[in-house]
Amino acid sequence: MKEVILIKIGEVVLKGLNKRSFEHQLINDIKNRIKNFGPYEVKFSQSTISIMPLSENSPIDNILPCVKKTLGIASFSRAFLCNKTLDDIKETLLEGLNSALSNAKTFKVESKRSDKKFYLTSPQISEEIGGFILEKFPNLMVDVHTPEVTVTIEIRDFGAYVRLDAEKGVGGLPVASSGKAAVLISGGIDSPVAAFMMAKRGIKLTAIHFASPPYTSPRAEKKVVELLEKVSEFSGNIKLFVVPFTKIQENIKKNCPEEFFTLIMRRMMMKISEKIALNESCEALITGESLGQVASQTLPAISCTDSVVSMPVFRPLIGMDKEEIVAVAKKIETYDISIQPFEDCCTVFVPKHPKTKPKTEKVEEAENKENWDIFINDALQNLKRIDIQ
Ligand code: ATP
Ligand code: MG
Repeated sequence: MKEVILIKIGEVVLKGLNKRSFEHQLINDIKNRIKNFGPYEVKFSQSTISIMPLSENSPIDNILPCVKKTLGIASFSRAFLCNKTLDDIKETLLEGLNSALSNAKTFKVESKRSDKKFYLTSPQISEEIGGFILEKFPNLMVDVHTPEVTVTIEIRDFGAYVRLDAEKGVGGLPVASSGKAAVLISGGIDSPVAAFMMAKRGIKLTAIHFASPPYTSPRAEKKVVELLEKVSEFSGNIKLFVVPFTKIQENIKKNCPEEFFTLIMRRMMMKISEKIALNESCEALITGESLGQVASQTLPAISCTDSVVSMPVFRPLIGMDKEEIVAVAKKIETYDISIQPFEDCCTVFVPKHPKTKPKTEKVEEAENKENWDIFINDALQNLKRIDIQ
């Protein structure tokens, strides 16, 4: 009896002609994630990926946390592989599922037969195995509608799988299957969630963080690294660029009308980010903005910040409430890091009365009194790069 993990691919199966390359990307990502845990065989057959330990020292338990965070997996289950004879299936079931079956009151059996030459039909297999379970486990009764335990028997070309219910995976598309984009990441709750959501749609992430020392502390930067480490458990490696933003912010404070502080700062962030993104072969920017959440995220404000870049800007949280965003942040374990209190550069020079309905021409007029290119180039020449593994 061999224990394996069986993986069902999600949306990837809908991808028509690209299906092969998506499957390939997913299998590569799985291999990459588990390679340091020991020898495993990763195989793709009959629309299922199986992972089988190749030594005693590489148990299934070690790699389950990786599987749970692999994008593109719809569901996964632990299964036992045996010969496709009723005797072997029964023996495997007694050994592998003994504790689950001993501790339940109701069960049902589901059978799937992709080997159509197998001598019993699916209902016949279920009936035979169901009868056997009833005989061996007097604690159990059949319940086909809401069973506590569902035993699944799958008859394949090469053998039979015996397993319990599958667990839901993270879903989405495999890592890097949709191209590359740069996420503007602060230390807040929203931007790590936005990064995760786009990674889930197959985006390979580069990250950009604006720091304004001494107004912001090194601890704020460390927080961003910790947040990205959490996101990278799903997305894979992330290259982070830290942009020195102090001079630009001081200059905004000195020379621009207070009501436009945040807006002009956000426009500078977008301009600089677009330049970094282009350099890194990214095709879009990602922010954690949600419509109406703060003064700089009203429709006119977003339109005003958007107008400085020509790259698409993805805002996956745009239609979400804070409560919904927090729920995702908790799920991906970034929430507790985000709520640690360290100043972000956005909170350093906050205007008392920010404009919520800015006219882009007015903002441009105020902004154009300064030559920002010198500052922008200076910031771009002093980027700090951190690799998040
Ligand atoms: P968050 O929780 O992500 O900080 P927020 O609701 O506090 O979001 P803002 O501070 O207005 O919103 O920022 C909006 C978006 O701008 C953020 O989601 C992020 O994408 C980007 N951003 C804000 N501050 C920074 C920063 N210091 N470095 C990089 N990007 C930033
Ligand atoms: Mg913020």
